Amino acid sequence: MLLNITALPGDGIGPEVTDEGIKVLDTVAELFGHQLQLNKKNIGGAALLASNDPLPADTLQACLASSAVLLGAVGGPAFDKYPSHLRPEAGLLRLRRELGVFANLRPATCFPGLEECSPLRAEVVRGTDLVIVRELLGGIYFGEPRETKGATGSRIATDTMRYAEFEIERIAHIAFRMAQARKRKLMSVDKANVLDCSRLWRSVVNSVARHYPDVALTHMYVDSAAMALVARPSEFDVVLTENMFGDILSDQAGAVVGSLGILGSASIGGKVGLYEPIHGSAPDIGGKNVANPIGAIASVAMMLRHAFNLEAEAQCVEAAVKKVLETGARSRDIARSGESSLSTEQMGTRIKGALLKVAENTPMVPG
Ligand code: NAD
Repeated sequence: MLLNITALPGDGIGPEVTDEGIKVLDTVAELFGHQLQLNKKNIGGAALLASNDPLPADTLQACLASSAVLLGAVGGPAFDKYPSHLRPEAGLLRLRRELGVFANLRPATCFPGLEECSPLRAEVVRGTDLVIVRELLGGIYFGEPRETKGATGSRIATDTMRYAEFEIERIAHIAFRMAQARKRKLMSVDKANVLDCSRLWRSVVNSVARHYPDVALTHMYVDSAAMALVARPSEFDVVLTENMFGDILSDQAGAVVGSLGILGSASIGGKVGLYEPIHGSAPDIGGKNVANPIGAIASVAMMLRHAFNLEAEAQCVEAAVKKVLETGARSRDIARSGESSLSTEQMGTRIKGALLKVAENTPMVPG
């Protein structure tokens, strides 16, 4: 199969972790006889510096012409002074909108052996395996008007949370189908005791539920959900929520399972899917070769599954990550104090090595 992919390394640790994702993609292509056609483009701060636009036209065209997009991360303190439409994050939001990817799937799994990396007690976090289905193109990140008015000292800033029924309906269908493929449990998270948007959300999710009588639907307010996520994370399975709540809860889920650095994500539902680790550009460790590349590699597995329907390949990548962690390999973010750690590059190379071994026992790999 032709794997026609645009890679957008971006800023900070983005290029470092993306390189390791590409290393794994290359290995998968070689092992399974696929042809990898990779096109690297600028986004975010890197694009701003090169062409004064966080999403240059040629980057967008390349993304739209490919079958999947692999993104590192965007942003950094150097760009904080830029006006909001010229911030690196504005480029990423525009890319998501242009691609039409309204469904962001964010799994958070506590790998055996990583329980000790969680700030929670091992017995609380053990067995955590959840997916947050986050609406990605609506809500307060996109609603208009958004502005700051007035003179310093009396400024007023406005953001607008807005949802249309169809936006809620389409993400709800994705979440119910995800629940059907897992434990047939879906929790919808909102703030319906305060927000009109959430009351509409709850009403539409209840209507969609009629199409999925085999799925047990529950609702929870976002503040309770945040509390429950740290009190009993292993009870969560599929969580459906709107854009901002999903952004916050998925970072929290990252900390719960040990590190933001191990979580990948898939943004789907549009013309071309976007696959990216959930972490940001981590400017505090950018360029030091210490970032954890597992989030980027997990995103590659999700890409193989969702963009190319290559389930065996996706499972091989996931099994390789699991095996490497089982051997005790640790990047700095998941090493205990006193424990030695691997660089970004070394972790990627270990995972590549494990992938070669896993694939030896996979019947689908051509001999
Ligand atoms: P962050 O996710 O970049 O970092 C938070 C903390 O987690 C930092 O201590 C960082 O060192 C650590 N961390 C993150 N990824 C890691 C990895 N792979 N390995 C090891 N440690 C890791 O969040 P932040 O500091 O709030 O944001 C930094 C910049 O990234 C900001 O400009 C923000 O706007 C941007 N951002 C971008 C995205 C994206 O591109 N999708 C997402 C979130 C934040």
